[in-house]
Amino acid sequence: VNSISISNRDRIDPFIYKFQFKNVEYSSGRNKTLLCYLVDKGNTSDGLLRGYLEDEHAGTHAEEAFFAQCLPHCNPAVKYTVTWYVSSSPCSTCATKIAELLTDRKNLKLNIFAARLFEWEEGEIQAGLRTLHAAGCKLRMMKPLDFSYTCDTFVENEDQPLNLWEDCKENYEYYHERLWLLCGFHLLRVIFRT
Ligand SMILES: [Zn+2]
Repeated sequence: VNSISISNRDRIDPFIYKFQFKNVEYSSGRNKTLLCYLVDKGNTSDGLLRGYLEDEHAGTHAEEAFFAQCLPHCNPAVKYTVTWYVSSSPCSTCATKIAELLTDRKNLKLNIFAARLFEWEEGEIQAGLRTLHAAGCKLRMMKPLDFSYTCDTFVENEDQPLNLWEDCKENYEYYHERLWLLCGFHLLRVIFRT
């Protein structure tokens, strides 16, 4: 049993959001993952589920906690579209688990928008992201517009709107290019067998 506390409150403290989601190249001191989620169950009366989870990297990761706590069961008759906004992309263990889950549950679509790529230089991490990609998961980097959207949707209201950090767009482009080199380029090589 993991004793790690997973909080599942309604809205994120703006200071915590800004610190954890800042898309800097080196994420020193950011030792947890924040995961904001939206669950769309199509035309059911349940509507849209919304919330967030946070973890300390020492225990159960937020990605795994999501499936344990927020979506433990899937009704095979319902089509689920799950969207995550995460402070960093999944570790290789989580990527493998998510990929298995997506292969098992064909009625579940997962879109992941990540602020940063977690340890993308590591071969194991890269393999995990490709596995995720191959399992049909849409993995994207968060654009400035995604940061504004998550702020409006998941962060406690402040009197003033949140100002994005000045290098937000440049950092997005940096990570977007890394992700393309890891997944997109790899996919092209698979398709064209070069
Ligand atoms: Zn993980």
